[in-house]
This record gives sequence, structure tokens and C-alpha cells, in this order.
Amino acid sequence: MLNQQQLELYSRNILIKEIGEIGQQKLLQSKILVIGAGGLGSSLLQYLACAGIGSLGVIDNDKVELSNLQRQIIHDFSKINLRKVDSAEEKLLKLNPALNLQTYSIRANYQNLTEIVKDYEIVIDATDNFPTRFVINQVCFEQKKPLVFGAVKGFQGQLSIFKAYENNQPCYACFNSNIVDEKFELPLSEKGILGAVAGSFGAMQALYAIKEILQIGENICGKILIFDFLKNDFRKSILRKNPHCKICK
Ligand SMILES: [Zn+2]
Repeated sequence: MLNQQQLELYSRNILIKEIGEIGQQKLLQSKILVIGAGGLGSSLLQYLACAGIGSLGVIDNDKVELSNLQRQIIHDFSKINLRKVDSAEEKLLKLNPALNLQTYSIRANYQNLTEIVKDYEIVIDATDNFPTRFVINQVCFEQKKPLVFGAVKGFQGQLSIFKAYENNQPCYACFNSNIVDEKFELPLSEKGILGAVAGSFGAMQALYAIKEILQIGENICGKILIFDFLKNDFRKSILRKNPHCKICK
């Protein structure tokens, strides 16, 4: 049962007929792991905390830098040189003091994710590098956890949920199988990103994680949303399982 403060705090969630008190209770009992407290993470972590997600885990190994602040709005000038997970923790607990927050100031790899992912029901990929994305995809496939994927660049973004462990669905590697080099990094010239684009997609990742927990609306698995804000072009494409995929075949 929700207490009086929860009924008031979450009243605008509860008024949505697809959520209601039962849905809100589900959110309060849910456990989401977020990998990355950068541009996507800044936005989605705050929306998830405010929505009443009961338990959040945050993995990030970086410190706050001046060049982060044009988009990573969970951090601010007073946090420069602090660990991002500590900076994020301070903000999130101000937004929702009842949040059960676990922070991991580590670089996500196969070994540590294999241990950590066990404790969560959904994983959100808010990273910005390909090798880590592949590792997250592999661990989520092995542990049968829904993976909320988001990626942004310039004025463009993509979003999907991968559940390759069920119903012949694709995984992230099915449509992005070409990059396996551990040291692969985009050149700095391709890393330009507008804060509002990252923030929009972070908010959408939070929204789709909530839809997944509540099992409401149309399923996004097996599809990908592709947005180009510059061209006002918003598309939904079908993703198919790759029979030669090294991860989910
Ligand atoms: Zn696959």
C-alpha cells in the first residue's frame, strides 16, 4: 500500500489510467541498472528517480569535467573533478530522498557486469562507446534482462529495447556486428552532441524503461526508433535477428 506522502508525491502518475496505484507500486518495487552518468544518464536518472523507481544502480568511472556541463545536467560547476557517481548521488537524493541508490565507480566490463546485473530487472545502456555497449548486450542476453538502448550523435538519436532471449528477437550485435575491437573509439570530431538531444533521448529511455516495467503500450522490441531533429525525421524501423550473430544465435 502507498502511504499518504507517496499518494501525493506520485498523484500525477497515479492519475494516468495505465499506471494507477498498482502501477506506482510496481515502479516503487522495481530495480533498474543505469550504465553511464553522462549526457543520457543525466536526464534519465533524474526522471526515473522522480517517477518513483525504487532502486537505481549507477555505474560510471569518470570524473566531472568542464566539457561535460553543456549537456550533463545532473552535474554542475561545483562538482568539477568529483566522481560522476558521487555528483549524481547528491542530486538524485535531493530529488527523491526515499530512493534506494547504489553507485559503482568502476569501468563496466564483462566480469563486473556479470556480478552486478544479477541484482537488477532492467538495464539501461547510457554509455558512449562501442566496446562497452557490446559487453552490456552480451551480459543482458546471458542473464535474460531487458536492455534499454539509446544512442545520440549531433542532432540524431536511436532507441530500442533488446530482449534477444525471447521470441526470436534481435540483440544489439545483430545490427551492429562490425565493431568488436576493444580499443575502438570514435574520433573526437564525431563526438559532437547537443545537450537537448542527449536529454531528449535520456528522457525517452526513462519512459521506455517505465513502459517495460509496467508492460503497457506497444512493444518496442524488434523495432528501433530513429530521430533526426535537424530534418524533423522520425522513423520506426524493424530490426531482425541476424542468424550469424556471435552473441544471440
Ligand atoms: Zn544478436
